[in-house]
Amino acid sequence: MNKLNLVLDLDETLIHAIPNNAQIHTYHPKEYFKQTINIDDNVYGDAMYNIHFRPYLEEFIDNVSMIYNIYIYSNGVNSYVFNALNLLRNKDKITNVFSRKTPVCNTIKDLEKYGLEPSVTIIIDDRLDVWDRKYYDNIIIIPPFYYYQHSFMNTDSCLEYIEKRLFNIYKLFTSNPKISMSNIINYSSYLKM
Ligand SMILES: [Mg+2]
Repeated sequence: MNKLNLVLDLDETLIHAIPNNAQIHTYHPKEYFKQTINIDDNVYGDAMYNIHFRPYLEEFIDNVSMIYNIYIYSNGVNSYVFNALNLLRNKDKITNVFSRKTPVCNTIKDLEKYGLEPSVTIIIDDRLDVWDRKYYDNIIIIPPFYYYQHSFMNTDSCLEYIEKRLFNIYKLFTSNPKISMSNIINYSSYLKM
């Protein structure tokens, strides 16, 4: 069985990037802090961000990449997205990265623009409104990750939950390839995790 495709949003789905000069950072624990990166943005000039990984991110990529081709799809500018992903120890497990190369932010995300077949593609995003409607059946919405809310109480286990669902989806898909993606995504939340 071939791998399915998994398209992951970046900001507030996998990471939380906080401007380096933001006051809020100083009041919160640093256990998920990875590194400060410099964004060389042609439009806005240089900017510094503190990058915080969502808990379980690297394990999630390790496990899920066994059965999914992982794509990162962000409306962020190129240099920001690549610098942030460079902090991952296992970024080589990501098949491809789609990010913004132009100053204009086209907020509507489109799978086919990048040659991804919707019938074998799952999308994880904290926002539905950034996607073209025709992909709504492919999307699992994840609660946004804000470092200072979740990591403080160490309560964020969304990626562990999503990982279990993705394994269920893969199982359902391989045993019932004729079922629609929307049904598979719905059923996956009722299966034993
Ligand atoms: Mg997002």
